[in-house]
Amino acid sequence: AEEPANLADMVRAQAMSRSNAIAFEFEGRETSFGELDIRTNRVVNGLRALGVKAGERIAYLGKNSDIYFELLLGAMKAKVVMAPVNWRLAGPEIAFIVEDCKAPVLFVGPEFVAQIRTIKAQIPSVRTVITTEGGAPEWQDFTAWRDAQSANDPKGEITPQDIAIQLYTSGTTGKPKGAMLSHSNFLSLVRAGGGERPDWNIWTEDDVSLVAMPIFHIGGSGWGMLGLYHGAKGVIAREFDPTKVLDFFEQSGITKLFMVPAAMQFVVRQPRARQVDFSKLRYMLYGASPIPAALLKECIEIFKCGFVQMYGMTETTGTIVALPPEDHVEGLDRMRSAGKALPGVELAILDANGNRLPPGEVGEIATRSGSNMAGYWNLPEATAKTLDSDGWLRTGDAGYMDKDGYLYIHDRIKDMIISGGENIYPAEVESAICDHPDIAEVAVIGVPDDKWGEVVKAIVVMKPSKRATSSDIINFTRERIAGFKTPKSVDFIEALPRNASGKILRRHLRDPYWAGKDRQVN
Ligand code: ATP
Ligand code: MG
Repeated sequence: AEEPANLADMVRAQAMSRSNAIAFEFEGRETSFGELDIRTNRVVNGLRALGVKAGERIAYLGKNSDIYFELLLGAMKAKVVMAPVNWRLAGPEIAFIVEDCKAPVLFVGPEFVAQIRTIKAQIPSVRTVITTEGGAPEWQDFTAWRDAQSANDPKGEITPQDIAIQLYTSGTTGKPKGAMLSHSNFLSLVRAGGGERPDWNIWTEDDVSLVAMPIFHIGGSGWGMLGLYHGAKGVIAREFDPTKVLDFFEQSGITKLFMVPAAMQFVVRQPRARQVDFSKLRYMLYGASPIPAALLKECIEIFKCGFVQMYGMTETTGTIVALPPEDHVEGLDRMRSAGKALPGVELAILDANGNRLPPGEVGEIATRSGSNMAGYWNLPEATAKTLDSDGWLRTGDAGYMDKDGYLYIHDRIKDMIISGGENIYPAEVESAICDHPDIAEVAVIGVPDDKWGEVVKAIVVMKPSKRATSSDIINFTRERIAGFKTPKSVDFIEALPRNASGKILRRHLRDPYWAGKDRQVN
């Protein structure tokens, strides 16, 4: 079939060709492609009746649901930009994002009604609140609102450059930034997967895809859109719950899903995991943070499907690099790699001055492709630092490429420790420390030091009833890596701070040591 020019036309085309096929399933409720087309028309007409204009943002604070996708796609048809808000954020952070968007309409899920009541005065740009599942007498409910609107298709012109969604970054290295992703960004992503038709990316209309990651991240919204584009059935999980994920395999016959490593860990830890029938599962795609080798091995044993690692970020509309199933072979060095650039994606490794480095040398990963974002919303300086005029995007990640084009990710540039002029990547130190049998997990940070600028500190979570001391850990590490990379001190902690994607928030660990001091980052 011909490629649609934008995602609104994608919805229309699916409705024409497969009106009765199921687009989404959510808690027993099914939405066909035909219904999706009509419902999104109603959303457009409803938004217009509320006075929302093309180019304005609307906000969604809620867990995953089919209603979210109706709103997202309806907004697209109206040229209005959906901005889903991370519901794990605190009240003031939520208020900041909603106000940053100047959203005149806010859609709110049942779990967050009370919170919005509390912060209502802090979000003056919101003229209308609509609840997605009722529960607030002072506000309209989505279903009643939607069904009161005309079903006529608005048919306004949409260009590929129009913004389709505003997704905030995970906030691992700082405040979340609103990445503006266009229709053409999404279509490039689809094309990158389809270019050489790598096996794992062949979607069929019979695929049943689990949307288990939160829709406020690209791994939720982007993954949902990808399945929809290919006409697969999207089974939507309200939120990630490891026991329910296993239920979905048993009850819905999931053939494909995307999870972050922290989620995979929760699923395989379920005692039931080894009894579940995964025979329908074809591919498990994973990424967003490094995966421990032992976890990957365990997952391969349990799920017995094709594995694909993905590397990418919100700013690249998701995946730009992938490690295909055939490279998931134990003992193969490539298993540590994030994979190769997808068709249509250029990669470069840059030194601190922006010059290209040869294979094997570590520098900042930069990329250029049609899926690079249009820019950050309301942040011209951050946009200029990230995207250059030739379309290259600096990822903020450090890594190297081998001579075969496989990318190895080291760390965030911001997390790199410079001690006595030497660059130290926390991941390397962490993996050396983690070999210690008493240690469950560890994060490595730089703390200020008068002599060396900064020095390495390890923050360790011990396995239950294990008792290695700081000096045991320091001595253990010194035997494995260079002296300047060895931690000078060790702290013990109950659990590492992580965000919704399971990423370690090193800045939270670092901040107390840097109070009142300036940490130089390149
Ligand atoms: P912020 O930009 O706000 O600090 P974030 O970078 O964590 O947050 P995302 O866009 O969700 O927000 O995540 C993208 C980042 O995730 C990448 O830049 C990279 O550091 C990390 N990442 C993605 N895929 C992988 C992978 N396969 N292996 C290791 N790290 C990965
Ligand atoms: Mg980032």
